[in-house]
Amino acid sequence: KAAKGDEKDEGGNYDIGLQEPEKGVVTRFPPEPSGYLHIGHAKAALLNDYFAHKKYKGTLLLRFDDTNPSKEKQEFQDAIVEDLALMGIKADKTSHTSDYFQELYEFCVTMLKEGTAYADDTDQETMRAERMDGIASKRRDSSPKDNLAHFEEMKKGNEEGIRWCIRAKMSIDNPNKAMRDPVIYRCNPEAHHRTGTTWKIYPTYDFCCPIIDAHEGVTHALRTTEYKDRDAQYQWFIKTLNLRNVYNWDFARMNFVRTLLSKRKLTKLVDAGTVWGWDDPRMPTVRGIRRRGMTIPALQEFILKQGPSKNIVNLDWTTFWATNKKFIDPVAGRYTAVDKTDMVKCVVNGAREAPYAEEKPLHAKNKDVGVKKVYYSQEILLDQEDAQSFAANEEITLMNWGNAIVRQISHSLNPLSSQKVVGIHLELHLQGDVRKTNKKITWLSSNQELVPIELVDFDFIISKDKLDEDDNWEDFITPQTEFRKDAVADENVAKLKEGDIIQFDRKGYFRIDRAFSYGQPAVAFQIPTGKTK
Ligand code: ATP
Ligand code: MG
Ligand code: MG
Repeated sequence: KAAKGDEKDEGGNYDIGLQEPEKGVVTRFPPEPSGYLHIGHAKAALLNDYFAHKKYKGTLLLRFDDTNPSKEKQEFQDAIVEDLALMGIKADKTSHTSDYFQELYEFCVTMLKEGTAYADDTDQETMRAERMDGIASKRRDSSPKDNLAHFEEMKKGNEEGIRWCIRAKMSIDNPNKAMRDPVIYRCNPEAHHRTGTTWKIYPTYDFCCPIIDAHEGVTHALRTTEYKDRDAQYQWFIKTLNLRNVYNWDFARMNFVRTLLSKRKLTKLVDAGTVWGWDDPRMPTVRGIRRRGMTIPALQEFILKQGPSKNIVNLDWTTFWATNKKFIDPVAGRYTAVDKTDMVKCVVNGAREAPYAEEKPLHAKNKDVGVKKVYYSQEILLDQEDAQSFAANEEITLMNWGNAIVRQISHSLNPLSSQKVVGIHLELHLQGDVRKTNKKITWLSSNQELVPIELVDFDFIISKDKLDEDDNWEDFITPQTEFRKDAVADENVAKLKEGDIIQFDRKGYFRIDRAFSYGQPAVAFQIPTGKTK
């Protein structure tokens, strides 16, 4: 039965139309250890986990699909395990495709013997053209004896072997091109990160999946809809090799505007130094978005809300970050920062003599966040932009303090910057009504240990919302995507730790990327909130 896949029942569960779940549900997440997990992988992982562990009392397998030694590394495998744990996903069992290289090899030998596979040395381009046009390879009817001999050469990884591959004998001209004799084994003499130099031949994903899924007891192989055409060949292997039945079940691939979701392309960004690394806050990796300030519950909610829908959409990051804001706003402590390069010194008449400080809540609506020390004095610092907005005798509100009246504004004497405010006199007017003023101003008393901090904001790496098929993505790299500002913050910021999520009043949410230490400013990354600027 074909379910659209995005209807929910009363319990908030998706009606997913999983075939015969009463017979048990075993799903698997099969990442290739060729990069760090990105948000697309997170969707696949969370969905498999949802079906296996939340919707049904089933089993989740994690299988590293490590069949291409040229791309895979232990580093990536370790990172994948960590990132899954971070997302709260715990597989019941972990395996590697490479655990089965011997069995897979034997399956291939059987197929060559039985004439359901053959060795081919047609060059790649010709093979592509022949498959396109439905033309049989000249090797299609070679004898099992010859085929086996070529497979043995491949196994040695010598010059002769490298020229050959093995193809399943499915069809020459099936309208579904995925059925036109797909390649099932390739020769690659490079060392494998787990099996070393034992093997010089590697099975393809198409060949491994049905065999290992059946062997490991997978009941439902979830795949993105672009694999839909390949369901038929999957089922062909199941039938031809007499394997246990496995259902294919498709869900939509997740795409985002102005975002690359391909490990190959992300690897290029890392290697080219366009970003600092896989955990760069501009990267759509699990690590990148976390470093930018995404929280795990928000990620889970966002992805499960997409649900198992089969509609492929180009998602916008705004909803993603708006979901996150819901989680961080109630718990982010409130602090104050002022732009350092252009702050305005301001005299406050009527203020008590320094040193004077009061304890204030870090969050007006959530006591549990804790308290901070707010310093008051006759000299405070303001943002230039705020200072420039003041009119003479205007009544304003100093946040966490009270009202004040602007008594005097001095401008720069330099004719080139005559708008620049260089000094202000305020007169406290604490009996004034804070609800009646238009301007709630952030300020810092100079009478405290101001904490130097860099505030960093980022832009998308890709400059075009949706790249077209024939666009070369490397032509659409935004030239500048990192924006740094020097600021100073209140003394309490010195205590924040890496990873803390806070709000600087009127500046937005930030994640501390580097804690303050003497002689080195803190670094905070602006967390998008879903509002378009
Ligand atoms: P990439 O092109 O980024 O390397 P992949 O599909 O080749 O992606 P795998 O490591 O093989 O990477 O993928 C593991 C699982 O994640 C697969 O089940 C795959 O279908 C799924 N997946 C990959 N990208 C997305 C995406 N954008 N949306 C949903 N699922 C995805
Ligand atoms: Mg893949
Ligand atoms: Mg891919």
